[in-house]
Amino acid sequence: MPRIPRAGATVQEQEYEFSADVSRVMEIIINSLYSDKDVFLRELVSNAADACDKKRFLGLQQDIRDDLRIRVKPDKERRVLCIEDTGVGMSKDELVNNLGQIARSGTKKFQEALDSKDVNLIGQFGVGFYSGFLVAEKMVVVSKRDDKEHQWSSDAKTFEIKETTGEIESSSGTRIELSLKEDCDEYLEDWKLKDLLKRYSEFVNFPIDLWQSKT
Ligand code: ADP
Ligand code: MG
Repeated sequence: MPRIPRAGATVQEQEYEFSADVSRVMEIIINSLYSDKDVFLRELVSNAADACDKKRFLGLQQDIRDDLRIRVKPDKERRVLCIEDTGVGMSKDELVNNLGQIARSGTKKFQEALDSKDVNLIGQFGVGFYSGFLVAEKMVVVSKRDDKEHQWSSDAKTFEIKETTGEIESSSGTRIELSLKEDCDEYLEDWKLKDLLKRYSEFVNFPIDLWQSKT
């Protein structure tokens, strides 16, 4: 497993390299979908819904805090868009493996879709988690599983993992914070988020609350 502890990094925080196929998928996504950035929200909301499905399937709901739901919270002050779910969450190993080592989308299939130049096909293709980097210069994922919480963060070049506590209220779940790129402020606007959620996430089986930003 490629793991390069950064010089001077504490034991609590570890820096990792993305595997080669993940780097390749990220590069393709960022270079090919730059004009269709909107897809990121569909991908992150569908991951949140998958995580809720999984928690229900595993019977992990403990009490009322665990109502399966998704929240989309724009913060104009910090220029951060946050997508939270009360789903199954990820352990440290799952964060490393699922968000750093295995390119789920499959570079080859994705490239075939691109080669066919069929925009619809590309649009339908699940480009996955890394599409967050279409709009974010930095992504922070806090996830809780089995009462342990970890934070994964990345600028798309390398990623870091550290332990956290008390960030997630539900018994398990995930929060993704996107620090938006300079030209991506529209993703903090209520009308834009409403439009995207209506377009892409109409058939999601869990409630999606859209919060209003303070400013
Ligand atoms: P896919 O959804 O096709 O598997 P993604 O790139 O969208 O591929 O996500 C990669 C993996 O990361 C998922 O399969 C899942 O295991 C994990 N993951 C992503 N987002 C979440 C989330 N919100 N909660 C739990 N696991 C997640
Ligand atoms: Mg997905």
